[in-house]
Amino acid sequence: MAKIRKILIANRGEIAVRIIRTCKEMDITAVAVYSQADRISPHVLMADEAYSIGAAKASESYLNIDRILEVALKAKVDAIHPGYGFLAENSDFAQRVQKKGIVFIGPNPDTIRLMGSKTEARSSMMRAGVPVVPGSKEFIDSAKQAEKTIGDLGGYPIMIKAAAGGGGKGMRIVRSALELSRAIESGKNEALKAFSDSAVYIEKYLESPKHIEIQVLGDTHGNYIHLGERDCSIQRRHQKVIEECPSPIIEAQKREEMGQIAVQAAKACGYLGAGTVEFLFDKRENFYFLEMNTRLQVEHPVTELVTGLDLVKLQIQIAEGKPIPFKQNEVKFSGHAIECRIYAEDAFNNFLPSTGEIDIVNNPQGPGVRVDSGVNSDSEISMYYDPLISKLIVWAGSRVECIQRMHRALQEYKISGIQTTVPFCSRVMEHPAYVEGKFDTNFIDSHWEAIIRNVKSEEEMAHLAAIAIAFHGEQEKQGTGKILGNSKTLNHSSRWKLRRMNFKQKNK
Ligand code: ADP
Repeated sequence: MAKIRKILIANRGEIAVRIIRTCKEMDITAVAVYSQADRISPHVLMADEAYSIGAAKASESYLNIDRILEVALKAKVDAIHPGYGFLAENSDFAQRVQKKGIVFIGPNPDTIRLMGSKTEARSSMMRAGVPVVPGSKEFIDSAKQAEKTIGDLGGYPIMIKAAAGGGGKGMRIVRSALELSRAIESGKNEALKAFSDSAVYIEKYLESPKHIEIQVLGDTHGNYIHLGERDCSIQRRHQKVIEECPSPIIEAQKREEMGQIAVQAAKACGYLGAGTVEFLFDKRENFYFLEMNTRLQVEHPVTELVTGLDLVKLQIQIAEGKPIPFKQNEVKFSGHAIECRIYAEDAFNNFLPSTGEIDIVNNPQGPGVRVDSGVNSDSEISMYYDPLISKLIVWAGSRVECIQRMHRALQEYKISGIQTTVPFCSRVMEHPAYVEGKFDTNFIDSHWEAIIRNVKSEEEMAHLAAIAIAFHGEQEKQGTGKILGNSKTLNHSSRWKLRRMNFKQKNK
């Protein structure tokens, strides 16, 4: 395979920006594509060339294979990087890219197809000797059919899952026979809507597991390597919010054991490029294959910060046919990294998506801080796309220092105009269970009361700040000197809000 000189990034937002950065460092021409909604987005402004591919709706732009291929041919690119989401795990897309003589930066279409079906992936992993979450081999159509499987699994609780699943869609926890029939029906309906495929199956529901995943690499020379684990147990609606590397509970021996199993999984499907093998990890330290993601993962930066590697660069080198440039025993892990996903969501209102125009963004900076962002001041957050707007990733020598640094960076991170998960992530960094490393996938539900209690007091502080500003304004007008409220009594966030409110008032 020849050197890649020009890459089309079939994506948007923070991941497109992330990939463009590596292209620039490798002296590769970066081609962006954009929808009407993204005309002046950071990824468009950063790329060497940019092409419009259609209307704001993803089906008419970022999922429009014909249009993307048309642009790729016109721009004469050597390769396409799909990022994550959109077409990244669409085997037909990968195949069509290859048929045009363009390199698809990712595994081969057959691997994507195999791992795209949770049931087929489970079967192939079982054949490869990888432990999988116990579950049904066949699809489930009715409660009657499900009952036998549930008996074989040792009873409730169980989970209904979509075979074509992703993004938590079609997933239902069932704790008793009374809920079974409804859960199957609603799971099937949701799966049909999301994936045009209503097939569901059953897994044993593991109570309070951890989500531990292993980063793997495979090249065209038959080399396979793992880059350790990521702990992605802080989740809302079964989707990740905060990730870290290494996991606070994984010892070196366990890392090696899980790493070897993940490599075994990658070998079994002839994996090429960067991929992730996800496991559920129970209290007795048993781990079970959950799924394999055949693409770059949102949380890949924590692995990059701890290993000092650039995963996008490695993906490109592997796609060029080069061997992985190091051996397993040369992979060195140093320090600790945490990633907070910054979603345009109101965490304290059931993580409701928050849309609108961002007023001002103030990115955190300083030692050990990395911001992978897809937005700027004045960016418009629409309902068309995933609410992930940026990722804040920090590195420090130890986990404790890393949490302190993340807390500091979150205080610096100011995004006004929309609600984000920044304040929520701060609360997690302050929570004793998180600090002690005692958490599982139920962390948010289990500690919700404590998390929200803190926030209420912050909201009250902001309210106080508003009253203080109004009152202070009145006093100034009347020439009296008594001031109600003092910014020293406000916490950092409220003081910032107060300054913003002052700024806005002055500029009205
Ligand atoms: P998706 O592909 O839709 O994101 P996954 O299969 O990757 O779904 O699971 C997402 C999350 O849901 C997991 O990280 C875990 O928190 C939870 N989960 C999935 N399957 C189970 C299970 N069998 N038992 C307990 N929790 C589960």
